[in-house]
This record gives sequence, structure tokens and C-alpha cells, in this order.
Amino acid sequence: MSKVLIIEDEVAIADLEKDYLELSGFHVEIENNGNRGLARALSEEFDMFILDLMLPGVDGFEICKKIRENKNTPILMVSAKKDDIDKIRGLGLGADDYITKPFSPSELVARVKAHLSRYERLINSSVQENDVIEIRGLKIDKTARRVWVNEEEKQFTTKEFDLLAFLAQNPNHVFSKEELFSQIWDLESVGDIATVTVHIKKIREKIEFSTTKPQYIETIWGVGYRFKV
Ligand code: CA
Repeated sequence: MSKVLIIEDEVAIADLEKDYLELSGFHVEIENNGNRGLARALSEEFDMFILDLMLPGVDGFEICKKIRENKNTPILMVSAKKDDIDKIRGLGLGADDYITKPFSPSELVARVKAHLSRYERLINSSVQENDVIEIRGLKIDKTARRVWVNEEEKQFTTKEFDLLAFLAQNPNHVFSKEELFSQIWDLESVGDIATVTVHIKKIREKIEFSTTKPQYIETIWGVGYRFKV
């Protein structure tokens, strides 16, 4: 259930907004004070903020700015004056939408729904993108467990893939062979750190243009390996 935080000092308006949003299936919480609203907006997880401009404590302009410095959660700003809307736009605070009082509750609900579904699509698409790592012609699809080098697909064994994906997911971090062995191979596996060396060699043969001058997996002498970005 999507969680909405209303920051609004006029109790009647806040309650009206809450009632309509709850009827539409949202979980709604209210803060009547700017300081408390801002603190909760930053420390708790909400899916959307409905933010009044004139508030006791911190005002809506400042709250919007502070939320945007930390989160991409949609913000709908509510104002009593049309002039304020121009001001919000002019300040470039990063609010997603604006609505002036008085507004019809159903219009508010429609806008909240629109922003939430847009935001969910955005989140879902970035989650999917994160499953694909792309660095300088090397593409690793972690979900499909496939690897391409300059558009050409390469075949990897299970452990080769696990090792490559692990290194690529932790770029610029130097791992010792012992660390890599314990990450990728389970305790019952027969083998030792030489196994890591052998696998790195095989991976390099598949992804590197020159295995003597690797551009992806770099050897840190006396320490181990790191995936260069
Ligand atoms: Ca107010």
C-alpha cells in the first residue's frame, strides 16, 4: 500500500485530503508542523509528499528543497495563492506538481495517483537496469547470466560468471584471492587460491583485448585483483 505524508497546518484541509486518499486505498499520515514534517520526510519511507507552503516551523519551500537534496519521492505542493505557484516554479525546488486551494478532493486524488504510478515505473525501470552492468563495451546481464564483449556474446562457466559479476559489481575495490575464493566458492569446494588465478585467466581471455594489458580486471601485485571502472 502506498504511503503518503501530508504536511499541512490547517487541520480541516489535512483531514479532508486524508479521507479522500484513504478511500482510494492509500495509507496516509499527517504532520501539522513544518519541523516535524521535514524530520519525518527525511527519516521515514514515504511514496509521496503533499506539502503545504505556509507552515509553522520550516515552510514548504525549505521542506521541498531539503527533501529533493535527499530523495526523488514525488512532491505535490499545495498553496493558497496562485502567485506562490509561480514562485515555486521560479525557485526550481524540484516539486513534481502544484495545486491551489481550494481544490476538489477528486482532483487531488487523481494527481497523487498519476505521480505515484509514474514514480513506480521509474523505480522499476532502474531496478531492471541495475541488473545489467555495462562498462566500455562489456555487458553483463546478471538476471540472464549472459555476457557480451562489443556486442558479441561469450560463454562463461558458472564460476567464471560469478567471479566476473562479483568483481564488476564492486568496481575499484581490491580483493585478495582468499576473499574472492571465499565469496565465490562454497566451503565444500575443493580448491584454493590457485583456482581463483586460473579463473581470472580464463575470464581475461574472453573479455580482454590484450590479456597482458587488461583493461577490466587489473592485477594488484601482492594483493589481488580489482575491476577497473
Ligand atoms: Ca498553511
